[in-house]
Amino acid sequence: MSEQSLESLLRPELQGQSPYGAPQLDVPVALNTNESSYDVPESVVASIVERVEKAAGGLNRYPDREFTELRAALAEYLARVTGVRLPIEQIWAANGSNEVLSHIVQAFGGPGRTALGFTPSYSMHPIISRGAGTTWIDGLRDRHEGVYDLDADLAVEQVREHQPSVVFVCTPNNPTGTAVTNDVVEAIYDATDHAVVIVDEAYVEFARPGTASAVELLDGRPRLVVSRTMSKAFAFAGARVGYLAASQEFCDAMRLVRLPYHLSSVTQAVALAALDHAEEMLGMVDAIKHERDRIVATCTELGFTPTPSDANFVLVGGFADEKQTWQALLDRGILVRDVGISHHLRITAGTPRETDAVLAALTDLAPTHK
Ligand code: PMP
Repeated sequence: MSEQSLESLLRPELQGQSPYGAPQLDVPVALNTNESSYDVPESVVASIVERVEKAAGGLNRYPDREFTELRAALAEYLARVTGVRLPIEQIWAANGSNEVLSHIVQAFGGPGRTALGFTPSYSMHPIISRGAGTTWIDGLRDRHEGVYDLDADLAVEQVREHQPSVVFVCTPNNPTGTAVTNDVVEAIYDATDHAVVIVDEAYVEFARPGTASAVELLDGRPRLVVSRTMSKAFAFAGARVGYLAASQEFCDAMRLVRLPYHLSSVTQAVALAALDHAEEMLGMVDAIKHERDRIVATCTELGFTPTPSDANFVLVGGFADEKQTWQALLDRGILVRDVGISHHLRITAGTPRETDAVLAALTDLAPTHK
């Protein structure tokens, strides 16, 4: 018997697909994955070590499967930043918001069902959906190319047309940085009586004043879920902690798909330590927003076309050949992200020194790369 190729044995929806692949290169200026460029403050490091030390002796036992203390700390944090106080039964957490999203799609997507997103958006939404056997539908963000605000009428029209089981709304949106107002989320929710509507707020702490969290909409909307992360504004990407807020029934459904004890004792300990110091952890957010706005202003002056952003990155357009510019920047030790949109690159806002480096390089390159 001849062996079949392993590729042909894959589930059909995975055949020919590419994995998530942001390059992890050791470069002086890494501005490609929207992490915080600022290290965890020393005082918080000390608290983390203390918490982990306490947890270490108990590592012979499984962790608290319900991560009760962590959910309480997350509920407290959400109340502080959104003004909405939720009981811990309305909070769920996992290893990064990627796993949170994966739990949601495992529970509400799956074979024979579809998930709809509005592209360009976060590349993991389709990958997570397909991974759970869900058919992905690449919806449109706007009728006009190069416009990245989510068009409410178009979104509603597509929800009605496709009748998905899951709808992804990313705000502020990766990779465009554009935010979606709550009335658009409400319109999408009202356009269906059976789809779970995921609002991915991974970057919400960077939004400009006037952007309300969709957490404010949760009351009376059992199919609405808001996912968030400690990876971005919280400067805690390495800890892998994401969470969601939704109705209690929704959170209960997550228990059907999570693996038991998915959040290790160490993860719970480090997250609790960071949440004890939320203000310090978020201390660089304003500085990062300043760098973001500087990238927008200078790129505009250089004749590129950046999209004003509510996140910690900027999508910059106007490159004659984005692949060539990406390489030219890398040759100068600067790693940015090619998000697969022609003539565009995405640049994370980091420290002033990093902004100086990327803007100096773009100034240098502008005459030949525009
Ligand atoms: N959502 C969006 C929109 C993102 O950009 C990211 C990270 N790039 C995530 C979710 C996942 O982040 P994490 O798993 O680190 O929480």
